[in-house]
Amino acid sequence: MLFRRCTGLLSMLMGAILVVPLAAACGDDEGGGDGRFAVLATTVQVEALARVVAGDAASVRSLLKPGVDPHDHELTAGDRKAISKAGVILRNGIGLDAYLESALEDRGTKEKTFTVTTGITIRKADGEEDPHVWQNPLNVKVMVENIAGALSAKDPANEAGYRDRAAAYLQRLDEVDREIAALIESIPPENRKMVTNHDAFGYFIERYGLRFVGAVIPSLSTQAEPSAKDIATLQDLIKRENVKAIFAESSLDPKIASQVAKDTGVKIVDDLYGDSLGEPGSGAETVDGMLLANARKIAEALR
Ligand SMILES: [Zn+2]
Repeated sequence: MLFRRCTGLLSMLMGAILVVPLAAACGDDEGGGDGRFAVLATTVQVEALARVVAGDAASVRSLLKPGVDPHDHELTAGDRKAISKAGVILRNGIGLDAYLESALEDRGTKEKTFTVTTGITIRKADGEEDPHVWQNPLNVKVMVENIAGALSAKDPANEAGYRDRAAAYLQRLDEVDREIAALIESIPPENRKMVTNHDAFGYFIERYGLRFVGAVIPSLSTQAEPSAKDIATLQDLIKRENVKAIFAESSLDPKIASQVAKDTGVKIVDDLYGDSLGEPGSGAETVDGMLLANARKIAEALR
């Protein structure tokens, strides 16, 4: 927002002598304006992981903001500026940030761009690759290691710090994995069934032995729309399977999910973090905090 305001002001004053000091004043918001190595992430999950690995050694920002749907982002002029200034670009890949492709025609940009999900076994649903890899802490460990590798490659002076902080966070992710498993174990086995708003929790469901019954938006993307027949089929399933709750997400309008919950008499949890993280201070602004927050809500609703 601030960035956009600065750009607007800049263009208004284009040619005026004020341009230079204004550009400097807006520098911080572009990331790296403080002289530190500038890391640019495409998603809030990658941004949060990069912050852990970067510590104070680098500045980190994301093209996407918390609470925003990542499935329909388009590259803005501000994004392009941030891309050109970044020392390293960390992308999720798996189709989630395909909008980056046009920027990668530039060789310099391509050389500083790393896909942090490389090495993860990608799940498929209806033939499509599932980009929501961050819903399994073991996948997150791979992302952290890739991020440490990318930062070290582009900013070797700070490699020791990047590697140390990454190693500590890998341990934290193992702890979180055990805590989540214990929470899911506390749910009676017959209740371990998930109906979600869109198909964003497949990795979580697989990791912890839950069963995916269906999604209100039967797609890996939020851009699809359910038909009346889709909704009717899902409602039948919810009743037949005696599903205890429908899980909607903080970044997605829960309107249809709420209606399905009402029609089937099932409770709705409308604030899981599917594609996004929490606001700063919520406890879910980190990937480990987000995963635990989700697991607690799921356990509470299905017990
Ligand atoms: Zn999604």
